[in-house]
Amino acid sequence: MVKKSPTKPPAEHLRESPAHDSVRLEALFASIGEGVIATDETGAITRMNQMALDLLGLTRADVMGKHFLSTIISVHDNGHPLDVFERPIVKAFQTGKTISARTLYQQKNGALLPVHITVAPIIFRGRPIGAIEVFRDLTTEIEADKLKSDFISIASHQLRTPLSAINMYTSMLRDGLAGEVSKEQLPYLQTILTSVERMNVLIDTLLNITRIESGGIVIKPRMARVDNLAREMLTEFVPAARAKSIDLTSQLPETMEPISTDTLLIREICANLLNNAIKYTPQGGRVHFELSETPKEVLWKVTDTGYGIPENAQKNIFLKFFRAENITNKDVSGTGLGLYLIKNIAESLGGELWFESTENVGSTFHFSLPKEILRS
Ligand code: ADP
Repeated sequence: MVKKSPTKPPAEHLRESPAHDSVRLEALFASIGEGVIATDETGAITRMNQMALDLLGLTRADVMGKHFLSTIISVHDNGHPLDVFERPIVKAFQTGKTISARTLYQQKNGALLPVHITVAPIIFRGRPIGAIEVFRDLTTEIEADKLKSDFISIASHQLRTPLSAINMYTSMLRDGLAGEVSKEQLPYLQTILTSVERMNVLIDTLLNITRIESGGIVIKPRMARVDNLAREMLTEFVPAARAKSIDLTSQLPETMEPISTDTLLIREICANLLNNAIKYTPQGGRVHFELSETPKEVLWKVTDTGYGIPENAQKNIFLKFFRAENITNKDVSGTGLGLYLIKNIAESLGGELWFESTENVGSTFHFSLPKEILRS
């Protein structure tokens, strides 16, 4: 017979006294493997675990009761301290939400420590009574990332040499430099050349991504007329549009004042947007390319009547390697790297990249570039 266990009496004896509670809380705090800092509602530090103290090279005496903002110094990559309103803890107090960010914390000896922080307001009876921040050292992650980027960069460079030999010799074969090429052989050679071209584009993208991820994009500004650049880009894409019977139209200003910008980077952005618009629009659709300006900005717009981006995929579209489900079952090749790359480029130029899209109706991608930043 199975014996029914008796209902346990209330575990009075297991309840802790408030003093015991506080000891347990202290022990819990100390054993967390990441840095933890708690503040009261004025921002004064009330607790900081040993990991946090060790990571920042501080002692308990350096921090207890001191104000978080003046004790925990956070700086930008360029070494400038973050403005008060940029500090995640301030944002968490202002919004009542959990805020995550990456930043550099200044250690007591002045060295900078890359960290990922998550800070949340502590709400008690609907009122913020303080904040709690958890942060972790990113040094090892950054080193691993750098090794990965270096590897991709070296591998890509090494791939280029044999690829240019394939390109050159195949072109020579196609052009009859090694004897007459038959009608059957010609399309084969052409397919090899197209594949080589695709591989070159992929290598360029990979190299650009490693460049971005290892310390930003180098911007080489020069005075240029972006309306002329847009006309050139459009001409480049006419054959691709024609091959799919896509009606490629445009609205470009007749003339624009030159601005100081990096034309190579702008080209990369426009080429990606035009390429995607044509790639993700079925035969017979329309793609429209528009350039305009306001006193403060230059605006590019690429609209297509293509497959569109499903609503549930829209939040992920700028993530590395992401491709939406509605196109992965179609025969359209891609890597999911282009938008990630050009979003980073747009932002490093001080601009923005965004889109609207409706599945099976089409998409519009916008790229805006402030003129002020371009001049500075
Ligand atoms: P790739 O085109 O190589 O897959 P991208 O980073 O350029 O990579 O694009 C990421 C994804 O965004 C695509 O795989 C596709 O799902 C979606 N996408 C981008 N542009 C468009 C567009 N104009 N129309 C529909 N989907 C698009």
